Amino acid sequence: MISIFGGFQNAQVYMSKRRLTEFKSLEANVFKSLFEVRTIEIITTVKAMQERSGQIRSQGKRIVFVPTMGFLHDGHLSLMREGKPYGDDLVASIFVNPTQFAPGEDLASYPRDVERDIELTQSAGVNAVFIPNTSDMYDKNYQTYVNVEQLSNHLCGISRPIFFRGVASIVIKLFNIVKPHVAVFGQKDYQQLVVIRQMVQDLDLDIEIVGAPTIRESDGLAMSSRNTYLTADQRISALTLYQSLKKAQEEIAKGEQDATRIIDTTKEFIQSRPDTEIDYISICDPDTLIEIKTIDKPVLMALAVKVGIARLIDNMILSP
Ligand code: AMP
Repeated sequence: MISIFGGFQNAQVYMSKRRLTEFKSLEANVFKSLFEVRTIEIITTVKAMQERSGQIRSQGKRIVFVPTMGFLHDGHLSLMREGKPYGDDLVASIFVNPTQFAPGEDLASYPRDVERDIELTQSAGVNAVFIPNTSDMYDKNYQTYVNVEQLSNHLCGISRPIFFRGVASIVIKLFNIVKPHVAVFGQKDYQQLVVIRQMVQDLDLDIEIVGAPTIRESDGLAMSSRNTYLTADQRISALTLYQSLKKAQEEIAKGEQDATRIIDTTKEFIQSRPDTEIDYISICDPDTLIEIKTIDKPVLMALAVKVGIARLIDNMILSP
């Protein structure tokens, strides 16, 4: 084993020689600001990840997996903490998946800070981080996609028609590489969670999917890597998403059953703030995502709003 010592006392990370060779583009100074003695493996190739997962499984250990696109915040870290007790080995991935971005979306500008992400995953108790290159994940001749047909056609799927095809395909690839027993996804991306659950059921994947609650800033804004795009004023406008959900819950608790009326009031409220452009506001069945007119049972209210250049989403289950 080789140890890399950072600039701080007690900062050390152990890696095998082979892992170190694979450590290609990441620089050793990633570790400079680690304060605690911990071990974490950083794995950058599909083959090395598959081998590691095979070894862990052959020891009879359970693998828990948290896929992310990086630029981590407390929402991501909460999934790791939530997942930890489900198994013996916690793996996170950091990969900005190109196939879920349409031309003109923010693939190139998506925020990235891998060094900081590695430190954060360590602090959340992650044993290994998988950080593959795009070329290793998608060969030049790549041509296979998974399409979860009905659930992908609602909400975000309307304005982002290739999004869930990209998400389902990368998630099943990551599942085949990381070989988890359990995978954790955030309810913040509610549609993604139900699409993944459906894929796991339809394709008989032997993986338990855990949904974890949305983590918010103290004022209610759902944490998102894209919040970094917001100016100070736009951040105030962005609060309208959460405020709308809370107002709707209050109205429903008072006896409002008309979904259209709630949606119209929400539209007016959000549009009253500068720099907002509504993509959708939907009140729908939490299982099928089909829109509901009369609220006489728990419903999902979901919304997507562009605030400046940031496309933000939020949702809540509302009960009469
Ligand atoms: P992303 O990096 O945006 O692809 O997200 C990776 C995972 O973190 C997904 O399962 C998201 O649902 C989850 N996630 C993102 N933001 C939050 C949040 N504020 N609270 C809980 N989970 C989140």
